[in-house]
Amino acid sequence: MFTLPPLPYAENALDPVISANTLSFHYGKHHKAYVDNLNNLAKGTEYENAPLEKVIRDTAGKPEKIGLFNNSAQVWNHTFYWSCLKGGAGGKPGGRIAQMIESDLGGFDAFKKDFANACVTQFGSGWGWLVAEGGKLKIMKTPNAEPPFIKGATPLLTVDVWEHAYYLDYQNRRPDYVNAVIDRLLNWDFAAENLARA
Ligand code: MN
Repeated sequence: MFTLPPLPYAENALDPVISANTLSFHYGKHHKAYVDNLNNLAKGTEYENAPLEKVIRDTAGKPEKIGLFNNSAQVWNHTFYWSCLKGGAGGKPGGRIAQMIESDLGGFDAFKKDFANACVTQFGSGWGWLVAEGGKLKIMKTPNAEPPFIKGATPLLTVDVWEHAYYLDYQNRRPDYVNAVIDRLLNWDFAAENLARA
């Protein structure tokens, strides 16, 4: 059985950038629903006791397994996203990741602009990502449930740009949500840990 991992902080820990109300619905309803759907779909199949990442990799690109893919990937994406956020974080990183932002992405201001642009221009539901691929940092966006690792990129940070992530707090103003997350919540320590394992 797949389980809903605990949030790494209290539901009001990201307030006021992301309210406790948003987090309560996003984690307690949306994330939980993906876990419940995955358990229902995996029951009695070869995936019932499989590691989550194996389910995602095995079902990616298979139209007959789209339900398993969407729900397993969304379980993974949300667990990852919670760790990408931290109250009182955001701003400029240091260390190796800062050097790579300089060399691969043109510096922190260019990163901010391009990362926000990827998040804002993802048409419809999806995710903005900072990834490592081939020893370099890259910014990308993916639609719906798709995580970058199915195409060989290692995720370092993500921002959920599905409307449910921001609509209660920002309504249609996705750019305001994205920029507030970048400035005040991005957990660069978590990104550095992911980069060290890439
Ligand atoms: Mn979401």
